[in-house]
Amino acid sequence: MNRVLILHYHEIWLKGGNKNYFLSRLIAAVKVALADLPVSGPQFTSERLLLKVQKEEILPLILERLRRTFGLAYVAVAREVASDPEALGVAACEMMAEKNPRTFAVRAKIADPEFAMNSMELERALGRQILDHLRGQGSDVKVKLREPEVTCWVESIPGRAFLYADRVEGAGGLPAVTGGRLVALLSGGFDSGVAAYKMMRRGAHVTFVHFFGPPSASRGSSRPVAEEIVRTLTPYQFTSRLYLVPFDGVQRQIVAATQESFRVLLYRRMMARLAREIVRAERALGLVTGDSVSQVASQTLHNLAALDRGIDVPIYRPLAGDDKTEILKLARAIGTYQISCEPFEDCCPRFMPRSPAIFTRPEQLDRAESGLDIEALVTLGLEGASALDFKFENGEVAVHDAAPQRLQKLLARRKDLPGTVRARPATAGE
Ligand code: ATP
Ligand code: MG
Repeated sequence: MNRVLILHYHEIWLKGGNKNYFLSRLIAAVKVALADLPVSGPQFTSERLLLKVQKEEILPLILERLRRTFGLAYVAVAREVASDPEALGVAACEMMAEKNPRTFAVRAKIADPEFAMNSMELERALGRQILDHLRGQGSDVKVKLREPEVTCWVESIPGRAFLYADRVEGAGGLPAVTGGRLVALLSGGFDSGVAAYKMMRRGAHVTFVHFFGPPSASRGSSRPVAEEIVRTLTPYQFTSRLYLVPFDGVQRQIVAATQESFRVLLYRRMMARLAREIVRAERALGLVTGDSVSQVASQTLHNLAALDRGIDVPIYRPLAGDDKTEILKLARAIGTYQISCEPFEDCCPRFMPRSPAIFTRPEQLDRAESGLDIEALVTLGLEGASALDFKFENGEVAVHDAAPQRLQKLLARRKDLPGTVRARPATAGE
C-alpha cells in the first residue's frame, strides 16, 4: 500500500511573514523525531507536509513520535491513489469496507484546479458509490453528515490524491525551540512537569532546575525523579539541561532566622532567586513554575504576589487557572504521571509551619527575611549546583554531565563582589 502521512499544522497558518521560519523548524523537528526510522520526507507540497512510510509495521512508532512533535494539529494516515474520480471510487469503497461503519460521510478538499469535479460533486459521487458498495455487501449503512461514525476524507493536489479515514491528534502548539529559553522550577511533583510541557508547546526551550534535600529513612531522594521527568520531556524539545541544586543549607538558614509562618514562602522565594541566576547564566527570558491559584496555602494570589516581588524576570505560571484533574490528565498524556507517583523526599514540606501565612503582603515577606544574608545564600546554593545534559537522538535519550561555564563564571564574579560573605553553616535542628 502507498502509505502516506499528511502532517497538518494549524497555528502556523496564522503566521504572516514568519510562516516560512516556523515551517522550516517544523520540518527540522519532524526529521529529528524520525531520524532512525525508514521514512522519506517530509516534503512540502501544496501547503501540506507529506511523509512516505516505507514499512507499514513501524507506523505505530512513527505516529507515537509525531504525537510528540509540537506544531502538528493532526496526522492523516492516508493512502495515495491515482488522481481521478474512478480510481478514487474503487479505493474509497475498499477502505470503507474495511471500516464497515454504521454511518459515514465523505469530505473532499480539492486543491487541484485540473481535477474533473469540484469538492461537492466528488463528495456526492463517492458517497453514492460507497453506499451502494457497502449495501451490496449486506450492510444497512447510512449517510450521516453530522458526526458520522467514519469520515472518508479525500485530498487532491495537482497530479496526486489521498484518501483516509484515520486522523491522529497532534500535540498542537508551535514547533519546538522557536521562542527563546525559559528556566522551569521542577519539583518532581505532578504540576511543574506539566507546566514546563505547556511552555515547551508554545515554542520555549526549557532548561530545568531542581532543588533537593537529603533523602529520609522512608523516602528516597527526589533527584532521580526530577531526572526521569526531564528524560521523559526531552523528546518534545530534543535537548534539555537540568540543574540540580542542594537546598538543605539554604533551608536550614531560613528555618533558623525567620518567622515560622512564612517559611514555605521564603523557601520558594529563595528558589526563585537561585533560579534567577540560572536564567542569567542560560540567557533565558523568564521562569516557569507549576503554581495553580489557591491549590495550596503558598499559592494564594496574595502569596504569589508577595513571592514575585524583587524577582526581576517574568514568572510564567501556565497552570494558574487549571484544576488538579486537568493537570493530572495532561500529566498522564505526556508520560510524567507515573514518575511523580513514586514516593520521594520533597524539600518544600520540610520543617513545615504549623500555620502557614495565607494573605502575605510583600513587605511582610521582605521584613521576614531581613535577618538573612540573601546574597550569601544564593552563592551557597549555586556553589553546590551540578548539571546534566539530555539529548534525544535516534529515538533514544542520552544523558551526560554538563559543565555550565557561564554559571561558573557568574559564581566566580559573585565571590569577588565586595561584601559578599559566606553563609554560616547552620547546625541540625536549628
Ligand atoms: P508540584 O506538583 O510541581 O510540586 P505543588 O502543587 O506541589 O507543585 P509547591 O510544592 O508549592 O506546589 O510548589 C509550587 C512550585 O514551586 C512547583 O510547581 C515548582 O515549580 C516549584 N518548586 C517547588 N519545589 C521545588 C523543588 N524542590 N525544586 C524546584 N522547584 C520547586
Ligand atoms: Mg510540590
